[in-house]
Amino acid sequence: PDARKYSGMVEDCCCDYETVNYINKEVLHPILQELVKSPFFRYFKVKLWCDCPFWPDDGMCHLRDCSVCECPDNEFPEAFKKPLRARSADDMVCQEGKPQAAVDRTLDSNAFNGWMEVNNPWTYDDETNNAEMTYVNLQLNPERYTGYSGTSTWRIWDAIYKENCPKYPSEELCSEQKVLYKLISGLHSSITVHIASDYLIDEATQSWGHNLEVLYDRVMKYPDRVQNLYFTFLFVLRAITKAADYLEQAEYNTGNSQEDFKAQSLARQLVFNPEIRAACPKPFDEAKLWKGEKGPELMLHIQKQFRNISAIMDCVGCEKCRLWGKLQVLGLGTALKILFSDNGNNNLNQPLQLQRNEVIALINLLNRLSESVKFVHEMGLTAENLMKGK
Ligand code: FAD
Repeated sequence: PDARKYSGMVEDCCCDYETVNYINKEVLHPILQELVKSPFFRYFKVKLWCDCPFWPDDGMCHLRDCSVCECPDNEFPEAFKKPLRARSADDMVCQEGKPQAAVDRTLDSNAFNGWMEVNNPWTYDDETNNAEMTYVNLQLNPERYTGYSGTSTWRIWDAIYKENCPKYPSEELCSEQKVLYKLISGLHSSITVHIASDYLIDEATQSWGHNLEVLYDRVMKYPDRVQNLYFTFLFVLRAITKAADYLEQAEYNTGNSQEDFKAQSLARQLVFNPEIRAACPKPFDEAKLWKGEKGPELMLHIQKQFRNISAIMDCVGCEKCRLWGKLQVLGLGTALKILFSDNGNNNLNQPLQLQRNEVIALINLLNRLSESVKFVHEMGLTAENLMKGK
């Protein structure tokens, strides 16, 4: 993209655009792409069949690609499977809204007893309630264009922005509220970038490819949306480096020792990477927030707003969008928990504890943001030139 617009420091961050693009492309992106393929990181536990707490009806998208495939692949970790029940052929069929998953929802607390079951104050879903959860193989369900659009989607984005993080600078917002807005806007940009990078170009021939018009019209044309994408990327990167000790010592155990060893070593490369630490030692400075007498009160208020946003994800009418919406909002909630766990009233002086699912969401979110930053950096200028030439 236009070098003048995106040079110097990313607004409210401690790292510049050139450095971000360099460390993302050369270091982060390759590690993350490998890491998310590992058995530990590719299975996400999620409650997909949800009742929207806000509106009785919600729109569905028209493409088959909206549905989430819950089928396990051949390497599905043994520990995740139901041991007693023989799997029927029906279990292998992927259907939108299929109520039963092919995999067990209760075993994981036994199989993964090294991981804590603690609720996240920033998110709405009760992660400790396994009854309605199912596992999804994220590698089989890429985030991309689904055709989900129209009033249902606008109502959701509108509710997220209007009720929870009003746009600035039209209103006077404190820096904490600004951070919430930028995180949501950055995530919104990243979702749009994924739609643009993996778009159904021709429905008749089922050909998929880049849609640079979407990239330009909905992201590149608005420099603040690009800035917010970079901001969100750095915010999540900071959370990961802050939780480095925790993430390094965590057990990435799925019963496949070769794969698990690889995941552990990739996670170490990610969190203690000397190149990232030298180039961008503190991607975001969280110590600047929640200052003053009103700090704890403000944190509880913003925590509630973020929980509302997390609840709104149950209203996303397309299953695949809901999957990625939930994962990424949980990832942001986890980043917020890591960065602010020692400031809030409830968590004073408590050591950081993360759930397995939170770590999976956090890493997959960073990977999505990393893909978006890379795509914007590589294709943004082409998209701008193309559209200006039209
Ligand atoms: P929208 O993207 O719906 O935007 C609505 C309005 O928000 C815009 O008019 C603009 O005023 C404002 N806005 C747009 N971008 C930003 C930004 N970055 N920052 C601040 N304000 C902004 N569709 C898919 O095809 N695949 C998916 O995986 C997918 N996932 C989704 C996940 C969620 C949680 C939601 C709510 C929707 C998802 N959608 C997905 C739908 C998609 O986001 C769009 O809503 C849809 O493509 C229609 O786009 P639009 O051009 O009407 O604008």
